[in-house]
Amino acid sequence: MCVFCKIVKKELPAKIVYEDDKVMAFHDINPQAPIHILIIPKEHIETVNDLQENHKELIGHIFLVAKKIAKELGVDEKGYRILINCNKDGGQEVYHIHFHFFAGKPLGPMICK
Ligand code: AMP
Ligand code: ZN
Repeated sequence: MCVFCKIVKKELPAKIVYEDDKVMAFHDINPQAPIHILIIPKEHIETVNDLQENHKELIGHIFLVAKKIAKELGVDEKGYRILINCNKDGGQEVYHIHFHFFAGKPLGPMICK
């Protein structure tokens, strides 16, 4: 079982900030910004490449969860960044799709060197 599935099953601890029947959000263990949260579907979907037509609603729901988290943390007006890595060149390390949510400081331009 992958590390995020273990978090979903509460077999691994995580600082959970949001949970419903389809989605979970928790603080990244190695934050890259003052606020760094991972939003994941509970379903084990490995990468963006594995998304199917029937995931449309789930993915839309994840963005609405991101919006809710932003408001709750009071960063909705200042701003935030949502990022997904896919496969090796995309920098993906955990093969359970996750949406990085960064906030808490001006993040600057996206630089992909
Ligand atoms: P990615 O490189 O997009 O696959 O990102 C994986 C992210 O998962 C990294 O930012 C890690 O710090 C984070 N991560 C890995 N294991 C855990 C964990 N047990 N709890 C919280 N975050 C984790
Ligand atoms: Zn998984």
